[in-house]
Amino acid sequence: MIVHQSIKEILSSEKLNIPVKVRGWVKTFRNDRFIALNDGSTLQHLQLVIDPEKYSEDFLKKISTGAAIEAEGELVESLGKGQKVEVQVEKLKILGEADPETYPVQPKRHTLEFLREIAHLRPRTNLFGAIMRVRSDLAFAIHEYFHQNDFFYIHTPIITAIDAEGAGQMFQVTTLDLKNPPLTEEGEIDYKKDFFGRKANLTVSGQLEAETYAMALGKVYTFGPTFRAENSNTTRHLAEFWMVEPEVAFLDLDGNMDLAEDFVKYIIGYVMKSRAGELEFLEKRLLQEEKSLPANKRSDMPLREKLQFILENQFVRISYTEAIEILKQSKPYKKKKFQFPVEWGVDLQSEHERYLVEKHFKSPVIIYDYPADIKAFYMRLNPDGKTVRAMDVLFPGIGEIIGGSQREERLDVLLEKMKKLGIDEKDLWWYVDLRKYGTAVHSGFGLGFERMVQFVTGMSNIRDVIPFPRTPKHADF
Ligand code: ATP
Ligand code: MN
Repeated sequence: MIVHQSIKEILSSEKLNIPVKVRGWVKTFRNDRFIALNDGSTLQHLQLVIDPEKYSEDFLKKISTGAAIEAEGELVESLGKGQKVEVQVEKLKILGEADPETYPVQPKRHTLEFLREIAHLRPRTNLFGAIMRVRSDLAFAIHEYFHQNDFFYIHTPIITAIDAEGAGQMFQVTTLDLKNPPLTEEGEIDYKKDFFGRKANLTVSGQLEAETYAMALGKVYTFGPTFRAENSNTTRHLAEFWMVEPEVAFLDLDGNMDLAEDFVKYIIGYVMKSRAGELEFLEKRLLQEEKSLPANKRSDMPLREKLQFILENQFVRISYTEAIEILKQSKPYKKKKFQFPVEWGVDLQSEHERYLVEKHFKSPVIIYDYPADIKAFYMRLNPDGKTVRAMDVLFPGIGEIIGGSQREERLDVLLEKMKKLGIDEKDLWWYVDLRKYGTAVHSGFGLGFERMVQFVTGMSNIRDVIPFPRTPKHADF
């Protein structure tokens, strides 16, 4: 019996001169004879050889780029260059035509901007196929890492009534009639009449809920979509992105840094093995893209070397205070080249982070113990009374890829902090309860999944590493 096999399976077949049946989309059709077929299972195309004498001209016209076809034939050794095997086609069926007059993904270079406009067809390109296979494997590696280390996968809610997290602007979820909302006696919108009987939003992070499960199951993680309504049109921000958030009981900040480093090294190492072909392809693309850039804007290392470098080197760990000292001694600071101020107490901007990572240390850097005033309410206060046990992991070319902290486990300190920030204890009563009943040191962090995919694939715009990007004014598809 001839069964439908993937091109990946066929290309790795040990046997020759066997019957095969394949389905896929035509990449190119040359000399009325050679079809390059791809079915998405691998970067490689399968060469199909047909005898043009057997088909009408009309039929041959339908074998065009983008058409879906089915072929049956014999797998044989290929005499041509570029492939070891090919299929001598005996039976060929056109499953779905793709009119060459209108089909937009032709076998030539398209700009990334153009491909974003056809996000439903861009997965048909070699580039997006490669990116999405890497993305998929990275997601799998994340689950595998946590599973191997006895973490439990917790599904935290997408809809939340918490709006105290302060991680960013939120999207509101409502079923109220926007033209005619119910009002309270004071003339405010009456959210008691809304679907949840209160104001609700899309989550910006699953952390607070994950903490509740860490304080019962010990080691947990969430991995799901998060939403931020910030109007930031950068190459590193999406309105909808995926975040990986482990949360661990009885773990302090040092342990949290160890976990973050071990974790990212594992997932990068995983895809370097599982997607070696894709990474080679992506590395070539990046070199090509960077040719048009001035020398000082190009990457220091080819993509795979950069990934290997991450695996082999220990991340530098410095306190925020040390980071400020280094920045103040730096050339760009002295020459007034930084756009934003460098001063103890202000948040580090991307230009500062990138100086530390790319110029000063030439290595991933973990900065810890940030000023309390620029970080979230739940981070553990240090004995100095002015810094908190926060950590950011900074990567070359990306900047912040992970943000995390040891959480404030002391009830009185947490309540005081909330009071100072005007966060009503009643709104977070369940979160406060964790500090009343069986409280313990615990820590966690959030990894922006797309930023990791960007780093691994070398794509400079975050819109190109998620199937359907959501950004201000863009929610097509
Ligand atoms: P940034 O300062 O880069 O905007 P943040 O400090 O607001 O990020 P966190 O709240 O610490 O981000 O979120 C944890 C991680 O999620 C970040 O380290 C980053 O990798 C990722 N992330 C945050 N905001 C976005 C976004 N809008 N799009 C994609 N990834 C994001
Ligand atoms: Mn952060």
